[in-house]
Amino acid sequence: MHRTALAYAYEARTTDYDGALSERLLTAAEADNRIAYAVADGDEIAPDTDLSGRLTITRTITGWDTASSQETSTRRRVIRLNPTVRPRRLTKRQHEDLRLVLGQEDTSMPAWRDGARVRTGFAAIPPAAAERLFAAGWLIEERDVHRTVSVSYAGRVAMVLHEHQTETGYRGTDREVVRTDGSRHWASGDPLYRSLCSCGHRAEPLFERKEAAQAASRTHRADALRALFT
Ligand SMILES: [Zn+2]
Repeated sequence: MHRTALAYAYEARTTDYDGALSERLLTAAEADNRIAYAVADGDEIAPDTDLSGRLTITRTITGWDTASSQETSTRRRVIRLNPTVRPRRLTKRQHEDLRLVLGQEDTSMPAWRDGARVRTGFAAIPPAAAERLFAAGWLIEERDVHRTVSVSYAGRVAMVLHEHQTETGYRGTDREVVRTDGSRHWASGDPLYRSLCSCGHRAEPLFERKEAAQAASRTHRADALRALFT
């Protein structure tokens, strides 16, 4: 039987309620459990707005300082999850393979491990390609009798970043002006910037400053990432 070597999806750095720091590596399955609990418990899950794929999970608790105290205080535990494989390394082909697996989820025939390959409905991911997806922590094999395969959160984050490649476009604003005497001429205006995304999204209206357009791009990408954790 084919066995995948244990692959880690994230480096987790935790700052505990008392300020103690700890670090450990998480497999994709361990990270998914951690994230699923955080979603269920209403913890804040904040994806970085850059292309790093980092996630920050913050749990806030407020309690009485001591049993007899009238004072309460708020404490936080912060877990920073840093992907071991950069999401940008996801290729177009790998993105398509992950989409096949995702497309089978919640159907009567979820993707499953068949020897070294992954079966997705009528298609299959060949052994070497499947191995790379498991090794990156983007696919998870469930511990069930069907050997169900699913896309991990790390894989979903990489997919979203692949689907939302933003750029900042530039547009001149020369326009035709009609004078009171009826004559027409061209007046040059300030350039305007737009925020475009490979998914087809474009922020409206246009921006006077390039930085503002870039910020809008980051916000759009972050919104798409946050939607994974609701
Ligand atoms: Zn987009």
